[in-house]
Amino acid sequence: MATTHHTRMLIIGSGPAGLSAAIYGARAGMQPIVVQGLQPGGQLTITTDVENYPGFRDVIQGPWLMEEMQAQAEHVGTRMIWDIISGMDLSQRPFRLTADSGDEFFAETLVIATGAQARWLGLESESALQGKGVSACATCDGFFYRGKKVVVIGGGNTAVEEALYLTNHSQDVTLIHRRDSLRAERILQERLFEHPHIKVLWNKTVDRFVGGGEPEVLTGLDLRDTVTGDISHIPTDGAFVAIGHKPATEVFAGHLPMDSEGYLLVEQGSTRTSIPGVFAAGDVTDKVYRQAVTAAGMGCMAALDAERYLAEAEFTAAQAARAAAQ
Ligand code: FAD
Ligand code: NAP
Repeated sequence: MATTHHTRMLIIGSGPAGLSAAIYGARAGMQPIVVQGLQPGGQLTITTDVENYPGFRDVIQGPWLMEEMQAQAEHVGTRMIWDIISGMDLSQRPFRLTADSGDEFFAETLVIATGAQARWLGLESESALQGKGVSACATCDGFFYRGKKVVVIGGGNTAVEEALYLTNHSQDVTLIHRRDSLRAERILQERLFEHPHIKVLWNKTVDRFVGGGEPEVLTGLDLRDTVTGDISHIPTDGAFVAIGHKPATEVFAGHLPMDSEGYLLVEQGSTRTSIPGVFAAGDVTDKVYRQAVTAAGMGCMAALDAERYLAEAEFTAAQAARAAAQ
């Protein structure tokens, strides 16, 4: 049966941004509810080793980190609800949101932390080898390919930056692009072309990610030439797919302003959206850093922004009520 929930702080998304907002919100007495979405724990639940989240000397596992974050949020008083937000009325407070289950949420403040997803090529062999040599994040996984051969697929700023970043670890980096010119900014292209450890393969798409060994790991790629149709093979230890990201913002279309790629817009230096009382944090608004620690930091900012907003709104409402009673 559908239920109606009331809260001072509704958080959409249970990745590092949403759960950090929950920890701060709960400790500030906001009695937060987190609606978890299709991927409880967020993107880190689909990776293995995490080596760059502060506080852990040894490598930790992404799913474990997110379980701990959720347990911490619950421990300080957050309610977790497994559901997906599918509709909303943000024109007045409390905001009214509806979920797939039919549940309704009335929220004094709203924190949006729905994240983003890397775009993938969509090949079966790609999903089979994800985490086994195929990645979409060089900053996260590049370190695991020290002294090995790696390739990056894509021709935009992200692909070029990933290729340049990977030269910190590898002396054998190949950028594979489907056309004969890059979309990336000129200055990045110049750095790429001048780099002694980066080669570019033009007019090539990936036909198949090839695995081998026991347990199976990536060993190479079959490439198709987009001009001749010829198939060739390139051996590699790591492949980084860098063909863009897609923020999870479809549900907010028509409710909140976004940039041309669908990222939610916030006031610089804060998490405030254009609607007072609605805040956005993490990858859903950040196309530059896209890290667990930055998402967690923005989640903290959103909870502090929400708490301050509500305190001010309640103070103003109480003042108005007193004035009206006189
Ligand atoms: P996400 O983690 O994307 O979480 C979004 C949440 O929103 C999910 O819980 C989802 O279910 C929910 N949601 C979406 N839509 C709805 C809806 N309509 N209703 C309700 N809920 C919804 N970063 C690092 O710092 N170190 C690493 O080693 C690292 N490794 C990575 C490895 C991989 C394979 C990937 C994909 C990413 C990695 N990252 C790493 C990046 C990091 O995971 C992200 O930057 C971070 O998870 C972003 O956190 P977030 O909370 O903004 O969003
Ligand atoms: P992008 O600019 O959309 O580039 C995606 C690249 O992937 C393009 O080169 C595209 O090829 C290729 N591609 C897309 N689908 C493909 C497929 N199915 N198979 C093979 N190749 C495919 O994405 P992005 O590089 O992630 O950048 C996104 C936005 O963030 C851009 O606005 C970018 O400027 C910005 N950004 C800025 C910085 C910075 O300022 N330092 C850094 C990173 C990102 P085609 O070129 O043939 O279309």
